[in-house]
Amino acid sequence: MFEAKNLEKTYMPKNAAPVEALKGINVQFGENGMIFILGKSGCGKSTLLNLLGGLDYPTAGEIVIEGKSSAEFTKLDYDNYRNTYVGFVFQEYNLLNEFTVRENVGLALQLQGKKPNGEQIDVMLKKVGLELDEKRRPSELSGGQKQRVAIARALIKEPKIIFADEPTGALDSKTGNEILTLLKELSRDRLVIVVSHDEEFAYRFGDRVIEMADGQIIKDTEQAQAQA
Ligand code: ADP
Ligand code: MG
Repeated sequence: MFEAKNLEKTYMPKNAAPVEALKGINVQFGENGMIFILGKSGCGKSTLLNLLGGLDYPTAGEIVIEGKSSAEFTKLDYDNYRNTYVGFVFQEYNLLNEFTVRENVGLALQLQGKKPNGEQIDVMLKKVGLELDEKRRPSELSGGQKQRVAIARALIKEPKIIFADEPTGALDSKTGNEILTLLKELSRDRLVIVVSHDEEFAYRFGDRVIEMADGQIIKDTEQAQAQA
């Protein structure tokens, strides 16, 4: 359904040597499940996630989505892919504090050119375990609650894939557990790809754990018995 072929990324910083962040990634994904991309800081996890999610472009290689190669993507195809096919969740939540929680979730629909619908927002907030006052703003929430809002914002687009970059990186371990449990539930109906440097979380929750080092995949393990 979704794969990366010979994906390479070399950053060209000004006044510094080029950085080969990805050195030929080949990987395939199915329709659902929770997949961890695990590795030490600097090994290329975020770079890979950003390329898979269409937030950045490869130096070489391609992603193939339902048979279509990113090599043939126009800018509009990339915009559509980002806006309709995938949802993102980040370590730092990336919520807008000048808007209420409900508006934050609704904005994701507006970006798709759809009208935010109050009922739909309620359904999503419930789905991620939040029932909040109409006027609450992100700055008035705990880290775990903020991450739930970010997940609701990703979900309301009904994406086929959710990409989460260190979604528990700013949370204590109990709250991190709760967020991963939620993502795990959601992964029954869609693909959830989580970047993490936490080996324990990865092997506890992952249906599959892909380990990276130095811009390459070094291990790829399917786990039949991962917990929910
Ligand atoms: P990870 O998410 O595993 O910590 P990254 O994908 O962020 O790793 O980074 C991989 C490598 O690419 C690192 O050496 C990092 O310093 C470098 N890198 C990441 N982004 C940039 C950038 N915009 N410009 C230059 N180098 C970068
Ligand atoms: Mg990273």
